[in-house]
Amino acid sequence: MGKKTALTFYGGVNEIGGNKILLEDGEVRIFLDFGQSFSMGADYFTGWLAPRAINGLGDYFEFNLLPKMKGVYSKEQLTERFKHLFCARPEINAVFLSHAHIDHIGQIMFLSEKIPIHCGYGTKIFLESMEETSPVDFGNHPYERFRTGHEIGVAQLVVEPIHVDHSIPASYGFIIHTSEGAIVYTGDLRAHGPRKEMTEEFVEEACGADPVAMITEGTRMGETRRRRNYSESKVKELGDQIVSSTDKIVFATHYGRDTDRFRTFYEIAKDNGRKLVISPKTAHLLSRLVEDKHLRLPDPMKDEDIRVYYKRKRTGSFQEKDYYIWEREFMDKMVTHEFVHEHQGEIVMDLDFYQFAELVDIKPDPGSHFIHSMSEPFSEEDIEDEVMHNWLNHFKIVFHQLHASGHLNREQIIDVINRVKPRKIFPIHTESPQQFKATSDRVHQVNYGRKCII
Ligand SMILES: [Zn+2]
Repeated sequence: MGKKTALTFYGGVNEIGGNKILLEDGEVRIFLDFGQSFSMGADYFTGWLAPRAINGLGDYFEFNLLPKMKGVYSKEQLTERFKHLFCARPEINAVFLSHAHIDHIGQIMFLSEKIPIHCGYGTKIFLESMEETSPVDFGNHPYERFRTGHEIGVAQLVVEPIHVDHSIPASYGFIIHTSEGAIVYTGDLRAHGPRKEMTEEFVEEACGADPVAMITEGTRMGETRRRRNYSESKVKELGDQIVSSTDKIVFATHYGRDTDRFRTFYEIAKDNGRKLVISPKTAHLLSRLVEDKHLRLPDPMKDEDIRVYYKRKRTGSFQEKDYYIWEREFMDKMVTHEFVHEHQGEIVMDLDFYQFAELVDIKPDPGSHFIHSMSEPFSEEDIEDEVMHNWLNHFKIVFHQLHASGHLNREQIIDVINRVKPRKIFPIHTESPQQFKATSDRVHQVNYGRKCII
């Protein structure tokens, strides 16, 4: 026998996000996700103090923010000092992405462009939309797109992607058939969303695979205080109550790429005879995602209930030349701060925290509403949260918290483990791996960069 089957974790260890899992089976090596940690380098980098692009990966390596592995990274990213890490033939056979959240994809631009990246059709659309509407460049990798039911061979490995319900479409878990047996990777998933049957299908397949190991997410494993978490349908019901009982404007903020939440607010607006006002960025993403009929999303160009908000820029007179080319596409659907001000009672408006300065122009009536449809701050001293409330108080806007999490709760994680019965459990994407230990003696300690033989 050659080299054994093994897992090494280079991210998602004792932290929520940043998944980067090396799976080795004999000579074959693949990465499951290649994400950026949310807290990445928070001890060294903050705000405008960021790793310098000019130094390639040098600033990351300085603080051990990326593994110093050979045959993984692109030549351009490796400065003189690290050029010994470059291999003309990469030592990684493939990378599989579970979904398009930054903590799962955020560092793929550093990978050698000879390494094929496998992802869902929807994930590829998200990557392209991000590249078109922001300065990010993920690099020219060869992409292979998959759907549930595909079986992807990488030498002797067979990887089965299976859809799961999460807070972004095109999310998958994987069953990887290795020479030691099946390894299950959950990616991120939930069981209370509008597509919970997809998660159920994944869990059933995982049970049937009789896995030797399961890599499971544990975002909510250590939840102590009762956070206000609803199902998506409850978010809709409570949101509808807020909108139907006011004649003022209702602002809402949610994760831009959570299309389930988008649909929830779209339907709330429509049911109340209001227009939904969205940003050009959301309009751009929707216009790309409508291609995927599974997602049942409205086309922002054709839908009568959608308007697109244009901020004042340079000339201040909303001329085409003021906007990026990709933004100009939706100018037929344009509304400005004046329109919003004059039609406050007829509008539900997506308003991201970073766009709050628009409130100065919109001048909402006192007693207007703001629905924060994202997770509550994790710490008591969250500065952005404090600033958000200062703005809302200044404009006398009523605050509401309404969110459905993208993750399984503690009971549901334990239930999945008990059903799948893997021989070994590797908890990642969690700040509470010790909570897993308390539930089963099959739980293995995950240490950054330490190889676990299967
Ligand atoms: Zn996620």
